Amino acid sequence: MPSRAELVDALESVVGRERCLSRPEELRLYECDGLTLHTADPSAVVFPTCTGEVQALVRACRRAGVPFVPRGAGTGLSGGALACDGAVVIECSRLDRIRLLDPVDRIAVVEPGVINADLSTAAAPHGLFYAPDPSSQLACTLGGNVAENSGGPHTLKYGTTTNHVLGLELVLPDGEQVELGGATGFAPGFDWVGAVVGSEGTLGIVTAITVRLEPRPEAVETLLAIFPDVVSACRAVGHIIGAGLVPAALEIVDRRTIRAVEDSVYAAGLPRDAGAVLIVELDGLAAALPPQLERVRSLCAEAGGERVEVARDEAERARFWRARKGAFGAMGRLAPDLYVHDAVVPRTALPEVLEKVCEIGDRYGLTLSNVFHAGDGNLHPNISFDRRDPGELDRVMRAGAEILETCVAAGGVITGEHGVGSEKREFIGLVFDEADLDAMLRLRACFDPERVCNPGKIFPTTRFCAESNPKARGYDRVPFE
Ligand SMILES: Cc1cc2nc3c(=O)[nH]c(=O)nc-3n(C[C@H](O)[C@H](O)[C@H](O)COP(=O)(O)OP(=O)(O)OC[C@H]3O[C@@H](n4cnc5c(N)ncnc54)[C@H](O)[C@@H]3O)c2cc1C
Repeated sequence: MPSRAELVDALESVVGRERCLSRPEELRLYECDGLTLHTADPSAVVFPTCTGEVQALVRACRRAGVPFVPRGAGTGLSGGALACDGAVVIECSRLDRIRLLDPVDRIAVVEPGVINADLSTAAAPHGLFYAPDPSSQLACTLGGNVAENSGGPHTLKYGTTTNHVLGLELVLPDGEQVELGGATGFAPGFDWVGAVVGSEGTLGIVTAITVRLEPRPEAVETLLAIFPDVVSACRAVGHIIGAGLVPAALEIVDRRTIRAVEDSVYAAGLPRDAGAVLIVELDGLAAALPPQLERVRSLCAEAGGERVEVARDEAERARFWRARKGAFGAMGRLAPDLYVHDAVVPRTALPEVLEKVCEIGDRYGLTLSNVFHAGDGNLHPNISFDRRDPGELDRVMRAGAEILETCVAAGGVITGEHGVGSEKREFIGLVFDEADLDAMLRLRACFDPERVCNPGKIFPTTRFCAESNPKARGYDRVPFE
């Protein structure tokens, strides 16, 4: 097996010294993603700038017998970009060109390092936008979005990343480059694009993405419906959808989150005394919105809403969204650590599950707050804590497990948009059995038979599916090519 110095030499021969990090203090910056509870040291971090370099780096890793992990901005919240088994991190943020933006076909071809919000900015002069809008959109990359099948507040009406990706350029784990799907969105045969979107970087490295762009709506109305508690706000979500309305977004922010936001740089004048706020965004033809707005008002009142405020202008609307999207950041005011959970329940189960989630937080004596994509039933119970207190950390982990079990028992799943990563691989048995996992492993083997691409993710290593554990299969490190 080549030494680490030989591996670094091989990587540097592809990208040069200045685009290869190998000193311990440099590697420390890449020991985790947004889930800081899980850490692992990479062997090296490299910054390719074109597809050819990605291919050469993958081949160099294969020759050295070292696994590799693609990484975007590192905002992931499930440990997806963690460098397990001493993997080399292939950082894609410098593959950042918009190769094509075609307003007639309404598509863009982008490299994976393009930042989500920058694509909509580039499309705006053509009256277009890229719809999936994670709250992290000022930082996260489209490559990361593809890997996690990211959602966002506007997923409710427009769909998640998978509904907007038409084609992919992918470097396979043996270094070969393939094209999947195509610009028209009509590709015969198996849906390989669908398989790669949401595969959490385990099937190869995405080096270009063809995405669908949407026309900007003629008019937008953004409302804040104020409720005495989070459960009645959840009830309103059911009333609105049940009435046949399809808002662009339905987001709930609870009292603890409102106060953290209002104490922070994201302050937007949200009512500090509210038990919860439901942000309702309606978009479409200008003439269609006023009756919808009145309908939402009365449905919120029926659910126990106290009042509804409507954004007076674009600046106020932008302030509301800044507050919503800055909420996780604002929680840094509550405690040194934050565990952002992610699970989905059927909309009808929201009020009951939210009540249980709050009860779990109280029972474990934890600071729990909720800010979430309510229209999709996509919960984010956030636990603020201090990891230096081992007792508290233990309670955080036990409460988190109970929250996931509660969501699954209510007919839900363990992740809506953050992925399984390293975080939830031991929980995947709550939603998939051995046969399901085996089918997924066989699909993975079509792309990556040696499991050299982003090892240690999605599939459990301890409690379930011993076969998925490389150690159980007789080797600890990936074999040579
Ligand atoms: C404040 C905050 C708010 C957030 N809000 C949302 C939200 O509303 N909705 C949501 O869905 N998520 C949200 N997230 C989670 C996160 O931003 C998304 O998962 C995002 O898609 C990650 O993108 P990234 O560029 O940071 O990827 P990374 O974290 O670097 O990587 C994520 C995964 O993508 C893989 N990957 C990265 N690049 C490539 C590539 N080129 N080819 C193949 N695989 C690749 C990695 O291996 C890893 O598995 C939030 C995170 C934060 C910190």
